[in-house]
Amino acid sequence: MTATQEILGRLETGARPSRDDVVALLTSSEEQFLFSYADKIRERCLGDEVHLRGIIEFSNYCVKNCLYCGLRRGNRRLVRYRMTADEILETAAEGAAAGLKTIVLQSGEDPHFTAKELSRIIAVVKERYDVAVTVSVGDRTKRDYRLMKEAGADRYLLKHETSDPELFSRLRPGTTLQDRIKRLRWLKELGFQIGSGNMVGLPGQDAETLADDIMLMQELEVEMAGIGPFIPNSDTPLARAQGGDVATTLKVLAVARIVLPNTHLPATTALGSIHPEGRQMALARGANVVMPDITPVGYKKLYRIYPNKICIDEEGTTQCIPCISALIASSGRSVGTGYGHGWMHQQRRT
Ligand code: SAH
Ligand code: SF4
Repeated sequence: MTATQEILGRLETGARPSRDDVVALLTSSEEQFLFSYADKIRERCLGDEVHLRGIIEFSNYCVKNCLYCGLRRGNRRLVRYRMTADEILETAAEGAAAGLKTIVLQSGEDPHFTAKELSRIIAVVKERYDVAVTVSVGDRTKRDYRLMKEAGADRYLLKHETSDPELFSRLRPGTTLQDRIKRLRWLKELGFQIGSGNMVGLPGQDAETLADDIMLMQELEVEMAGIGPFIPNSDTPLARAQGGDVATTLKVLAVARIVLPNTHLPATTALGSIHPEGRQMALARGANVVMPDITPVGYKKLYRIYPNKICIDEEGTTQCIPCISALIASSGRSVGTGYGHGWMHQQRRT
């Protein structure tokens, strides 16, 4: 029996993996074995359904200056936009009419959208449409998060980005990993289903860091984990960094599925952007979520977090959703018909 098989055998009996186990899986040479094992776990724990989350990128203004991101405030080359509340609601309406059961409201950290304004928008979406709402607007006060929860938001996506505290503070000037984790705990306390996640291929990251990313998400009991490659953006200080590769990203994804069997794992747009089959490969290695971008075409081109993002010329509802549904069908899977709530909120209704 190989070391990989020994670890998986132990996990199969319900044992909790140690950090050394996770490092060993991440550095195992038995990729194919890991991949098919992850696929089996996904099928056993979550079935064949792939949940769609329609994302509306409603503002690309950001007060933060993360070294990896094209929306950073120091990027003067980016043309900035904000959608109006009516535009956001219209887009949500189109998404709901196209059958989406989750709407994700994402933006840079834009104080122009106060918690009150966001809450108003969330409340209207929840009242008019039969959808779950995920919010992803970065670091806010606990009071802000509470207002959004009271307005009816179901989930919050706040990636921890990297579990290495020094790397975190270097890449996200003026902020700490501890503070990001504190916010995730607040969100959970307030009743949100929480989503976290990390980038793969950040400069200075190694297998130990990636193992800690997975261990941290296990500890936080996240209901979603967005794991995608870091893609260098020429308009940022990390323009010359190497970035994440397909093979490592898929391996981290597969190990995440093994360690977090019930957690929703998206086949990320970032992975689809560095390989034409990226999302299909992810679906076969543990992923069970895809996030079609339903932002109006004129805006989505400007939400340039990283270069060569796929689908930016396609209109979300009439083009992206049918395209992604076909991709899911060709992977032998079906599109989820429910809200696709997290594993701790399965019984809940929106
Ligand atoms: N402002 C919010 C949400 C928008 S950023 C926040 O930061 O939480 C959404 C995600 O984009 C981030 O969580 C990060 O993981 C990802 N991202 C940023 N720059 C990236 C890059 N260059 N390559 C890949 N993903 C990136
Ligand atoms: Fe702003 Fe989020 Fe980009 Fe950081 S990752 S610069 S907070 S949009």
